[in-house]
Amino acid sequence: MSMNLVVFLYLVASVCFIQALKGLSHPATSLRGNAFGMVGMSIAVLTTSALIIKLAGSGTGLAWVLLGLLIGGGAGTVMAQRVEMTKMPEVVAFMHSMIGLAAVFIAAAAVVEPWAFQITAKGSQIPAGNRFELALGAFIGAVTFSGSVIAFGKLSGKYKFRLFQGAPVTFSGQHQLNAVLGLASVFCVLSFWHSQSPVDFALVCTLGFAMGVLIIIPIGGADMPVVVSMLNSYSGWAAAGIGFSLNNSMLIIAGSLVGSSGAILSYIMCKAMNRSFFNVILGGFGGAAGAGQVAQQQRSVKSGSPDDAAFILGNVETVVIVPGYGLAVARAQHAVKELAEKLTHKGVTVKYAIHPVAGRMPGHMNVLLAEAEVPYDQVFEMEDINGEFGQVDAAIILGANDVVNPAALQKGSSIYGMPILEAYKAKTVIVNKRSMAAGYAGLDNELFYMDKTMMVFGDAKKVVEEMVKAVE
Ligand code: NDP
Repeated sequence: MSMNLVVFLYLVASVCFIQALKGLSHPATSLRGNAFGMVGMSIAVLTTSALIIKLAGSGTGLAWVLLGLLIGGGAGTVMAQRVEMTKMPEVVAFMHSMIGLAAVFIAAAAVVEPWAFQITAKGSQIPAGNRFELALGAFIGAVTFSGSVIAFGKLSGKYKFRLFQGAPVTFSGQHQLNAVLGLASVFCVLSFWHSQSPVDFALVCTLGFAMGVLIIIPIGGADMPVVVSMLNSYSGWAAAGIGFSLNNSMLIIAGSLVGSSGAILSYIMCKAMNRSFFNVILGGFGGAAGAGQVAQQQRSVKSGSPDDAAFILGNVETVVIVPGYGLAVARAQHAVKELAEKLTHKGVTVKYAIHPVAGRMPGHMNVLLAEAEVPYDQVFEMEDINGEFGQVDAAIILGANDVVNPAALQKGSSIYGMPILEAYKAKTVIVNKRSMAAGYAGLDNELFYMDKTMMVFGDAKKVVEEMVKAVE
C-alpha cells in the first residue's frame, strides 16, 4: 500500500466523520450520520492496520493488530448491547478514559523508541517540536484518563469509595495545591522539551494523572455530564497532539473533530442549564443541592388516576407531551407513542416538547422518541414550542421535573436563569411521577401545587399504559 493511497483513504475517512457529525445533529438524519461514522471508522482502522503491517514487515505485526481489534471490538460490542440509555454518560466517561490512556501509552512508546514511529533515525534525538507535542499530548491524555475514571465513579453512584461519591470533595488549600501542581506540570513539559529526559516525561504523566483527579473531585454529581463532555473534548485534543508527533493526519483530523465538537457540546449544555463553563469546572452546584437533598414541604396537591387523565386528554383539542428523565427510566416511550396515536385518532393535536437537557445527556429524549418511531414533525425544540404553551389545552409532563420548574424564573434559586419549557402556562397540567421527590437539581417544583395541575402518581410506563386503555 503506497503512502499516497493511505493519505487518500484517511481523507475519505475524515470526510465520513464530518458527514457523521452533520448527520447526528438532527434525529431525522442521525441514522445516516451513524452509518457514515461506522464507514469512516472502518476505513481508518483497516488503513491503519494495513500501514502497521507494512511497517512491521512480519506476521507478528498482523497478529498484534488482529488481537487488539478482537479484544477492543469484542468488549465494545458487549458493552453497546448491554448498556441502558440512562447509563450512557458513564459509558462515555469510560470510553474517554481509554482514549486518554491510549494517548499516554502511544506517547510513552514514541519517547522510548522514536525510530519505531519514524519520528527520528535510531540513535538521534527526537526533534524539539515533536518532544513538545508528545509531552503535551501525554499530559492531556493523563488528565483525561484519571479525570474520566473519577467522572465514571461519580456518575455510576454505586461505589462506596469517597472520591466516587456525587458530593464534591473539597479540602483546605485545594486551589493552592492545584496551582502548584499546574506550575510543576508546565515546568516538566518545558524540561522534557529541552532535555528529552525520560524522568521528565514520567513526571509529566504522573502530574497529569494527579491533576485529572484533583480537577474533577470538587465537581458535584449534577454537573458531571458537562464535565464528561469537556473530557470528551480533552481526549480529542490529546489524540490530535499525538497525531502531530506521529505525523498521522487521521489522528489529527479525528482528534480535532472530537476536541472541537466536545467543546461546543459543553458550551451548549452550560447554556441550556444557564451555567457558566468556569462555574461548572470550579464545582459546587450539583453536590450542594443534589437530588432529594432539599427537604420537601408538606403541602397538598390535587391527584387523580390515569383514567381521570385520559378523560381530560381525550376531551381537549391540543395536547403537549413533555418527556423527562423518568420517562427514560420507565422505558415508557412506546406506550407514549401509542397514547399519542390514540389521541390523534380522536382528532386531538398532539405535540412533543423537548428541553435541550431533559434526561441525562443532550438528545436523550430525541433518541428515545426516535426509538419508538414518533414522527419527527410532532417533536418540537424548546424555543419552537414555548410560545404555544399559553394556547395549549393540556400539557402532560411525564417523568420531567427540573426542565419545567418555574423556580428557574426566581432570583436566588440554584436553577435561576435556566431556560424551561413553559408548561405552567397551559390551561391544564397533568404531571406523572412516582412521588413528590425532587428532580436532579434537588428543588421543590411550584408547578405541582398549582390549581390547574393534576398529579398522577406511579411508574410512567404503567400509568401511560393505563391511560392508553382508558382513552375511548
Ligand atoms: P429530573 O431529574 O429533574 O426529574 C425526573 C423526574 O422523574 C423525577 O422528579 C422523578 O420523580 C421522576 N421519575 C423517576 N423515575 C420515574 C418513573 N419510573 N416513572 C415516572 N417518573 C419517574 O429530570 P428532567 O428531565 O426534568 O431534567 C433533567 C435534569 O438533568 C436537569 O436538572 C438537567 O439540568 C440535568 N442535566 C441534564 C443534562 C443533559 O445533558 N441532558 C446534563 C446535566 C444535567 P419521582 O422520583 O418522584 O418519580
